[in-house]
Amino acid sequence: MENLISLVNRLQRACTALGDHGEETALPTLWDALPSIAVVGGQSSGKSSVLESVVGKDFLPRGSGIVTRRPLVLQLHRLDEGREYAEFGHLPRRKFTDFAAVRKEIADETDRETGRSTKQISTVPIYLSIYSPNVVNLTLIDLPGLTKVAVDGQPDSIVMDIENMVRSYIEKPNCIILAISPANQDLATSDAIKISREVDPKGERTFGVLTKIDLMDKGTDAVDILEGKAYRLQFPWIGVVNRSQQDINKNVDMIAARRREREYFAQTPEYKHLAHRMGSEHLGKILSKHLEAVIKSRIPGLQSLINKTVIELESELSRLGKPIATDAGVRLSIYGSIDDLNFYKSGLLIQGKLYMIMEICRTFDGIFKEHLDGVRPGGDKIYNVFDNQLPVALKRLQFDKHLAMENVRKLITEADGYQPHLIAPEQGYRRLIETALILIKGPAEAAVDAVHGVLKELVHKAINETVELKQYPSLRVEVGNAAIESLDRMKEESRKATIQLVEMENSYLTVDFFRKLPQDVEKGGNPTHSIFDRYNDSYLRRIGTTVLSYVNMVCGSLRNSIPKSIVYCQVREAKRSLVDHFFTDLGKKEGKQLGKLLDEDPAIMQRRISLAKRLELYRAAQAEIDSVAWSK
Ligand code: GDP
Ligand code: MG
Repeated sequence: MENLISLVNRLQRACTALGDHGEETALPTLWDALPSIAVVGGQSSGKSSVLESVVGKDFLPRGSGIVTRRPLVLQLHRLDEGREYAEFGHLPRRKFTDFAAVRKEIADETDRETGRSTKQISTVPIYLSIYSPNVVNLTLIDLPGLTKVAVDGQPDSIVMDIENMVRSYIEKPNCIILAISPANQDLATSDAIKISREVDPKGERTFGVLTKIDLMDKGTDAVDILEGKAYRLQFPWIGVVNRSQQDINKNVDMIAARRREREYFAQTPEYKHLAHRMGSEHLGKILSKHLEAVIKSRIPGLQSLINKTVIELESELSRLGKPIATDAGVRLSIYGSIDDLNFYKSGLLIQGKLYMIMEICRTFDGIFKEHLDGVRPGGDKIYNVFDNQLPVALKRLQFDKHLAMENVRKLITEADGYQPHLIAPEQGYRRLIETALILIKGPAEAAVDAVHGVLKELVHKAINETVELKQYPSLRVEVGNAAIESLDRMKEESRKATIQLVEMENSYLTVDFFRKLPQDVEKGGNPTHSIFDRYNDSYLRRIGTTVLSYVNMVCGSLRNSIPKSIVYCQVREAKRSLVDHFFTDLGKKEGKQLGKLLDEDPAIMQRRISLAKRLELYRAAQAEIDSVAWSK
C-alpha cells in the first residue's frame, strides 16, 4: 500500500510540477488528465464531513442549513518535507498554517461572492491548495447540496442551477464520485444516487457512501443497504459515522472521532460483520486503492499525452526560431572601444545580423513571388484586372455617344475655324479622334491602380506568412514599408508608361486606315458641294462612323498593350526588385541599427522562455513517468 502511494506520488509529483497554477492556460496541464474526487448529495447529507475525513483534516465549514454555497476545488499537494500550509487561489502567496483560519476564509470568501445571505448560492468556485507531507496529490471538490425546491430569498432557477453546476463537475470522465446519502432518509429519494447514475450509468466511478447511520430511527438499520440488497452499486456501499453537530460544537477532533466511529461499527451488533469494510478510514483506503488503479491504467495515456506535448513544445519552439545572440562586443565597438578582438568579434556579428536580415527578406520575397506565380493564391486577381475590369471599363466609355452626329458637327465646325474645310476635315478628324482616345486614360490608370492594389495585398500576405518576421516586429515594419514604397515607385512608372501608350496613339494616326476607306466617304469633301452640304447629316454621320471604327480599332490594340505595359512596369519589376532598395539601405546601416531591426517581440521572447521552461518540466515528467511505467 505504502509502496503504491509512493508510486502514485512519484507519478503525480511530475504532474504537479506541470499543472501549476494556471497562469499559462494556453498550455495543457496534466491535472486535467488525472482523476479528481467530488462529493455529491442533498443538503446536509454530510458531504463536507466526508470530504474532510478523506483528507484527514478539519478545515471545511460544516453544519446545518446550506453551508457550502460555492464549489470548493481543493488541490492537495504532497510536500516531501516541511510544515503544512494552505493557499487560496484568490489570495496567492498568503500561506495559511492555521486551519481554523482556512475555514473562516472559505466562509468569508463565500460571502464575498454571494453576499451575507445564507441562502444565496454561486457557481463560481473557490480554489484552495493544501501543501503537506501527509497528503497524496489529489483534487477534491466540495459541492453545494442538491435541493428540490427554492426556499425564501432564492431565485426559482436555483434548483436547476445547482444541478447543472454539480453535473458539470461530475460528468468529467476522470471524476470519481462520492455519492453521499444520509441513512436517516429514504434511499429512494437520494439525489446523490439519481445524479451519479445519470453521468455514470455503469457505476464505474461512483462510490456510495451512507452517512448518519448513528441517526437512524431506533429499531431500523442500514444492513440491507450496506450489503447492497436495497440498491446495488458496482462498488460496495461504505457506511460512515461523522461527527454530529454537537461534536462539532464541542470541537471533537478527528482522531477521537475516528476512534469512536471504529468502535461504533465494531460494537453495534447489526454491523459487526461488516465492520472491516465500514468507516472513514476504510473509505480513504478504498479510494486511494481505486485511484492507484485508475492512475496506473492511465499511465500509457499519460505517456502519450506527455510525448505529444513534448513534440508540440519542441516544434513550437523551433517555429519561434532561435534567440539572437546579443553580444556585448557590438556595443563596445559602437561606443568606441579599440579592443581589436572586440572589433573583430563585432564585425563578425554585424555580418551575421546582415546575413540573417537578408535571409529573412529573401524568404519574404520568395513567398511574395509564389503568390504571383500561383504557388500561393492571389496572383490571379491581376489577370482578372486585365481580363475583366479593364475591358468592362473600356466598354463603358461609349465612344458611339461621343461620336454622335451633333458632337461631330460641333467639333468639326470648331476645328474648321473661320475657314470651312475644302476637301476633307483633316483637323476635325484629329480632334474627334483625340477627344475620344483621351478618354481611355481613365480606364488605363484605373487598371494601374487596381494591379497596384493587388500587389500591395500580396505584400501584406507575404509579410504575414513569413514566420521569421513575426519574431522581429521592427524588421517586419521596415521590410513591409520598403516593399510598399517600391510598389509605389513602380506604380508611378507604370502610370507614366501607360499614359504614354495612349498619347502615342494620339500623336501619330495610322494612315493606312484612312487610305483604305471607300471613296464614297470622302465624297462629302467634294468641293462642288456647297458649304452647307458639307455639314449635312449624312455626311457628318459618315464621319462619325469612320472615326468610331478607327477609335475602336485603337482601343482594341490598347486593350492588349496596356496589360503588357503594366506587367512590364509593375509585376515583372516587383518580382525582380521588390526588396532591392531595402538591401541598398541595409548596407549603409551600422551594427546598432541592424541590431534594432532584430529586436525581438518581447511577447515572443517571453513565450520562448516559458515554452522552454515547460519543455524542461515535461521532459522531467517524461523521464519520471517512463520510470514508473517500467517499474510496474
Ligand atoms: P453537507 O451540507 O452535505 O456538506 O453536510 P455537512 O458535512 O455540513 O453536515 C451537515 C450536518 O450533519 C452537520 O451538522 C454534521 O455534523 C452532521 N453530520 C454529518 N454526518 C453525520 C453523521 O454521520 N452522523 C451525525 N450524527 N451527524 C452527521
Ligand atoms: Mg457542505
